Amino acid sequence: MFLEPYFKGQRSGWIEVICGSMFSGKTEELIRRLKRAKIAGQDVEIFKPAVDTRYHDEEVVSHDSNSIPSRPVHTAKAILELSDDVSVVGIDEAQFFDYDLTEVCEELAKRGVRVIIAGLDMDFQGKPFGPIPNLLAVAEYITKVHAICHHCGNLATHSYRLSANKDRVMLGEKDTYEARCRSCYGMGNILDLKPKPLDKDKEEKTLFD
Ligand SMILES: [Zn+2]
Repeated sequence: MFLEPYFKGQRSGWIEVICGSMFSGKTEELIRRLKRAKIAGQDVEIFKPAVDTRYHDEEVVSHDSNSIPSRPVHTAKAILELSDDVSVVGIDEAQFFDYDLTEVCEELAKRGVRVIIAGLDMDFQGKPFGPIPNLLAVAEYITKVHAICHHCGNLATHSYRLSANKDRVMLGEKDTYEARCRSCYGMGNILDLKPKPLDKDKEEKTLFD
């Protein structure tokens, strides 16, 4: 659990990054932190890249429908222009932003803003994603969250794409991606053909419900 640093009598900006694979709860953790800041009466502004229109244009929405209003923006620099007199800035799906995002976040932190960023650390090929690696380097606080591997139940760090589409950006959810641990990810589409252990156990499980 992330505990907010507290500097008595001193206003100080910093950068927090929440990263992990798909289905790891990144956005839920971002929303949790932002909602608590709002409850404390802090001025909070939330941004997401205009490319992410999966659920609702004006909201940061996580997979469990917990949501918070946000502003879609086309460039990282636009965040700077829209963050006057704000004490907390949240940024969701940060991997889709341009590389200016690091500079923008550092500028905000310098102004005394608490910046909280959520994003995928790796793309579907297991490569560092967009500006996230640079943000991890400059952040004061990093939280890596994990999903559960769809095949073996270990901690999952990789987002495995179930279709043959090779575009880096392909928005989707449970029907297009699954979370996998390193070794199941390495087995690639061999696992697509195998029955999943969870399905096999389903009937037995109902006995204990
Ligand atoms: Zn696994």
